[in-house]
Amino acid sequence: MRILLVEDDPALSSSLKQGLLQMGFSVELSQDGAEADAILAVRNFDLIVLDLGLPNMSGMEILKRFRKRGATTPVLILTARDNLQDKVSGLKAGADDYVLKPFDFEELEARLQALLRRTQSERSGFIDAGNLRLDKSSREAFHHNQPLSLSSREVDVLELLMSRYGRVVSKDQISEHLTGMDEEIGQNAVEVYVHRLRKKLEPLGISVRTLRGLGYLLEKSDG
Ligand code: CA
Repeated sequence: MRILLVEDDPALSSSLKQGLLQMGFSVELSQDGAEADAILAVRNFDLIVLDLGLPNMSGMEILKRFRKRGATTPVLILTARDNLQDKVSGLKAGADDYVLKPFDFEELEARLQALLRRTQSERSGFIDAGNLRLDKSSREAFHHNQPLSLSSREVDVLELLMSRYGRVVSKDQISEHLTGMDEEIGQNAVEVYVHRLRKKLEPLGISVRTLRGLGYLLEKSDG
């Protein structure tokens, strides 16, 4: 597994590199935004850990350019704890997950493992989240291997929530995900689909939680 680590802080980058090597990754480190962008244009990695504040090109810009080239490699961004806006725009720009600085290495490790598991099962044609499984080709969802009765729109919404399991998905992201070639799906429609999906998932102990002003979160119910 090859990982590109982009972090300009010397102390943090060297301790992260050590930790990632111990996880068994082969690690390439870049401490400069423009350099990282150039590396990503020509080389492939299995995972990218990207700081946002970098010399010569911001992490956000690198990420946007990377996704614009069609790259699907999972990207985890490192962002300051007080900067919620960065987190939201990072996810919008195509980050798969984020870790808030300062963090414990164990937290980062757990996120990276989860990200790898998720992308590996996605490559196999399935998305797994908790006890849910979605077959991407047949567009069927299962709970403990029992098929769920969902409309195709509900499957679309569930797909996005599952691929970001345990994390917030904004209404905008859902509406973009649902918007096809011939129709625009507005926020009201998103609310309707989420509401229907929530009612079908609730009896299974799975909740679609609303976070005011932020979006939705798929997670296990407390009860
Ligand atoms: Ca930095």
